[in-house]
Amino acid sequence: MSKVLFAAAEAHPFIKTGGLGDVMGALPQELKKIGVDARVVIPKHKNIKPNFKEKLYFIKWFTVKVGWRNEYCGVFSYNHEGVEYYFIDNEKYFNRDGLYGYYDDGERYAFFDRAVLEFLREIDWYPDIIHCNDWQTGMVPVLQKLEYKYQHNYSQIKTVFSIHNLLFQGTFDKEILPELFGYDYEPYDNGSLELFGGVSFLKGGINYADRISTVSYTYANEIQTPMYGEKLDGLLRSKNNILSGIVNGIDYDIYNSETDKNIFRNYNIDSIDNKKINKLELQKRLGLPVREDSAVIGIVSRLTNQKGFDLIVNIGDRLLQHNIQLVVLGTGDRGYEEHFKGLQYRYPDKVSANITFNDELAHKIYAGADMFLMPSLFEPCGLGQLIALRYGTIPIVRETGGLKDTVNPFNKYTGEGNGFSFRNYNANEMFTIIESAIGYFHNKSIWNGLIRNALLSDNSWQKSAQDYKNLYEALI
Ligand code: ADP
Repeated sequence: MSKVLFAAAEAHPFIKTGGLGDVMGALPQELKKIGVDARVVIPKHKNIKPNFKEKLYFIKWFTVKVGWRNEYCGVFSYNHEGVEYYFIDNEKYFNRDGLYGYYDDGERYAFFDRAVLEFLREIDWYPDIIHCNDWQTGMVPVLQKLEYKYQHNYSQIKTVFSIHNLLFQGTFDKEILPELFGYDYEPYDNGSLELFGGVSFLKGGINYADRISTVSYTYANEIQTPMYGEKLDGLLRSKNNILSGIVNGIDYDIYNSETDKNIFRNYNIDSIDNKKINKLELQKRLGLPVREDSAVIGIVSRLTNQKGFDLIVNIGDRLLQHNIQLVVLGTGDRGYEEHFKGLQYRYPDKVSANITFNDELAHKIYAGADMFLMPSLFEPCGLGQLIALRYGTIPIVRETGGLKDTVNPFNKYTGEGNGFSFRNYNANEMFTIIESAIGYFHNKSIWNGLIRNALLSDNSWQKSAQDYKNLYEALI
């Protein structure tokens, strides 16, 4: 049985800010089912859900070197549905609100990355693979290659580095090499870690891991081009032979229209009419007029320019001349937050702006909306559109990254397709597609066909977990 340790900054159901957390919650479970001993390690953040936090089991403590200092490191564990989760504890670094965005993130994750390698010795369990995720764990492959592989029990360990979002590169002052890692400047001077005059954890992961993966096939190709490569496209092209794209799935138990306790009425492909009840109840709950004939367009997202909000801002007023209701759930850039509040003020009968993070409301929107809008500028995989499909809510997306790989544009001649898509990052192009979707919405037989196609789309983890297993086995 192969042994895989996932290292990441977040994991559902303990703590999550986005797609990465979802993946850490679902993929290990699925791997377990196909005979992989998958475990997960994350920091013991302050905001881990209290019902879990109080149940974490203390294993032991030891110290971890951060440059010339020794820092306390506690290890806790929790077995969630058969998967062992470990939590790295240090109150100075992780007893804070939120997960990222602190002035000393470099130090916090330098500590975490070394702790990931050190705690293996402490619990006397050595995986075949350490599967690292995003910049926060990018230095694990560096430490493994430069130091640990020369140590007893570590020599066989291989590393996989997954890019969930290339935009976040974890770049810090080059002084961190001696200060936090005890290294000289060689890996900076020879370019292995250097990025625009700093040291990038992400670049470390890309350069030192044995394999690189990203979360969709299209994104794996896109990041090798200057448009999407975030200045690392050249490096990624040179790594082409060890880079692959494996599309994310979603947890089919958490997102299940038949059993979801968060939604107003359960339904399945044989009871599509019950989906309507979710729409009407959602309208009621949000204080919108209860109107079956208004197409409800849902958005559940971080409010950042990555997610295509410039396009939505551009056409907002034009769109709202139609018989639609726009339901937004998200937090993020102040400008977008204010914009949606403003729209709600001006169109109280048509716009509901919920500027908050709320899992329960998210489920209600996924189930209650007719359409789900996600016109991202770039999208490594995207989970929103997958969740929407699972609830028979028709995605309208831009053809980029995972959105392109998972949404099949509707073909009016064959009736095939599970959503709508447009190609260029252009507000008018998006507007035309939304208008055509609204047109089809009023044709019940076409729309019900689309709902059925959406509900029949398979975005479970089953296939992708097998792809990861193959990737691991090729390495061991
Ligand atoms: P990203 O990871 O780039 O933010 P994804 O589409 O991959 O985008 O994943 C976003 C996840 O976070 C989805 O599960 C989505 O439902 C959830 N989410 C985003 N914003 C909110 C919010 N305000 N409230 C509840 N869930 C949210």
